[in-house]
Amino acid sequence: MASTSIRKGGCLCGAVQFEVPVPAPSFNICHCRMCRKWCSGPFMGVHCDGPAIFSDDSAITWFRSSEWAERGFCGQCGTNLFWRLADPATPIYVVSVEALEDRDDIELERHIYIEEKPARYEFKDDKPRITEAELMVELGITPPD
Ligand SMILES: [Zn+2]
Ligand SMILES: [Zn+2]
Repeated sequence: MASTSIRKGGCLCGAVQFEVPVPAPSFNICHCRMCRKWCSGPFMGVHCDGPAIFSDDSAITWFRSSEWAERGFCGQCGTNLFWRLADPATPIYVVSVEALEDRDDIELERHIYIEEKPARYEFKDDKPRITEAELMVELGITPPD
């Protein structure tokens, strides 16, 4: 396992600039309905060791997208940047791989919420594909529903 690296990132217009601690250079592709609606496609997220540190947070906007999670985006250009659990007792932070400046070494780990993926698109990789239930067991959390 690689050691944590600090990665710089930002939105399309530059009004949001941040650094995040990335413990492993890998990302998940989330096929859940909310991510797809949010991104106009699946969300490609990198797990972070902690929250983003902002050097410019003038436009970061947080939206409570469900009972248990929040999504951060640039209120100026609309770039989707962050997903996090709302409960600080279970700190899980995810950043969009495409928001990071250095990302060429970040590799696809797996697909999540595969049971929500529609039939109209398909990825050709052979990485693992797991369901919400499998992910919740792994994370040790119980989502309210
Ligand atoms: Zn922006
Ligand atoms: Zn999702």
